[in-house]
Amino acid sequence: MKTVDLRSDTVTQPTAAMRAAMMAAPLGDDVFGDDPTVNALQDRIAAITGKEAALFMPSGTQSNLCGILAHCGRGDEYIVGQLAHTYRHEGGGAAVFGSVQPQPLTQDAQGRMALADIAAAIKPDDPHFARTRLLCLENTWNGHEMPDDYLRGATQLARENGLTTHLDGARVFNAAVASAAPGQAAFERLREIVDPFDSLSVCFSKGLGAPVGSALCGSRELIDRARRVRKMAGGGLRQAGLLAACALHALDHHVDRLCEDHANARRLADGLGGIEGLAVRSAETNIVFVDVSEGRGPALLDFLKAYGVLATGLMGLRLVTHLDVDAAGIDRTIAAVRRFFAEAPAALTASGRLGPY
Ligand SMILES: *Cc1c(COP(=O)(O)O)cnc(C)c1O
Repeated sequence: MKTVDLRSDTVTQPTAAMRAAMMAAPLGDDVFGDDPTVNALQDRIAAITGKEAALFMPSGTQSNLCGILAHCGRGDEYIVGQLAHTYRHEGGGAAVFGSVQPQPLTQDAQGRMALADIAAAIKPDDPHFARTRLLCLENTWNGHEMPDDYLRGATQLARENGLTTHLDGARVFNAAVASAAPGQAAFERLREIVDPFDSLSVCFSKGLGAPVGSALCGSRELIDRARRVRKMAGGGLRQAGLLAACALHALDHHVDRLCEDHANARRLADGLGGIEGLAVRSAETNIVFVDVSEGRGPALLDFLKAYGVLATGLMGLRLVTHLDVDAAGIDRTIAAVRRFFAEAPAALTASGRLGPY
């Protein structure tokens, strides 16, 4: 029985065609700047995002770190959501490596910081304060696609106050595919979304299905500064064209198909919707969040595992669709969840019995 792995869209295996592209890639030494496949990828993603230049990175975390450190110096600060990846899930890297202080702000259920809160957090030029330098946003955030008017309003506010702007776009391809107008190309929609930002990171190893890789995109000057940081962070790779070839393949073949992941997430949310004992909290793009009653989340995760379905969560479940999950896998997941609530005795799985994890 094939495992249905809904823990993350990072778990995908490279397809046979992607492996073939990898084997065929011409290679050089990228620290000397002469890996033709890396250079082709960087030119391609810069053109796709409408930025001057791009830099291939081993991970999204490193893209964001190099981006923040290219925007900010020691004693500067960046405004960021309390639950944003660039604040909460990157080990405090900007503070650790760059002496750049985060100024985290509360987000609403869709991941937005209030513009008034952003304005209030921008410090005057006064030696008491860190220098507020950068605004970081994220799209998609927990699957939520950020509305254009919010992205434009927040970046405009930042610019009016002399701040630069960075978008954590690990899943921005999902946002582009989900919000493209009928007949509009995904890449054209992507450029509209990222246009107001000075820089952005994108991930190739999430929904796009590459094994490794991310890119930072921005002005040539910013990218030159980021290249220094990348070297210091140990991210200067040599025959990285092996990895860049997978990312190029993904850009050619795995962008438009993201709508299948979104349809599968919708199918999952609809199927779970009628089951007593849980509630679908949100289901947008390729991520479904489910609240589970009476602290039964951990027991449900264990039960699903026995049925070959993997997910993550504490109070509830997070289920992520991707190119290695098909509609049959979604239906198996729905059936297993239904069985759990129909069969598993609540008394044995009540809060505390299995402990939180
Ligand atoms: C996955 C992710 C990243 C980067 O993660 P890596 O595991 O370092 O590639 C950054 N931001 C968001 C929102 C992500 O989901």
